[in-house]
Amino acid sequence: MVQDSSAVEFGVLGLEVTGVEEVLGEVVVWVQSPGGQAVFCDGCGCRARSKGCREVVLRDAPFSGGRPQRVVWNKRVWVCPDARCCVGSWTERSGLAGPRRVLTGRAVSWAVDRLAAVEGSVASLAR
Ligand SMILES: [Zn+2]
Repeated sequence: MVQDSSAVEFGVLGLEVTGVEEVLGEVVVWVQSPGGQAVFCDGCGCRARSKGCREVVLRDAPFSGGRPQRVVWNKRVWVCPDARCCVGSWTERSGLAGPRRVLTGRAVSWAVDRLAAVEGSVASLAR
């Protein structure tokens, strides 16, 4: 069961926790945006059609207790229904992580903080 604080953090990012599992000592959290929201094309304003989802695996800052954490974001893919529109398809975005990133934003912050710590070193950070 995910702790409330973690669920709230994902909520702030517009995502909801759909599952939590511990796999080989690592906490794996599945998240996705709530369904049922109308999404519109940035190019022409048409209402987008769903093209399913794509799983994106992100390394996250350690879970409470210091255990490694991975986030599996079931990212929604949208397509513009207007064939004349140049936008085509796109995946949703969130403050969780930028496009094509493998670390969440808070994992990056955590790593930078660790690096800045007195006892921190590149080798200890890699662990
Ligand atoms: Zn469009």
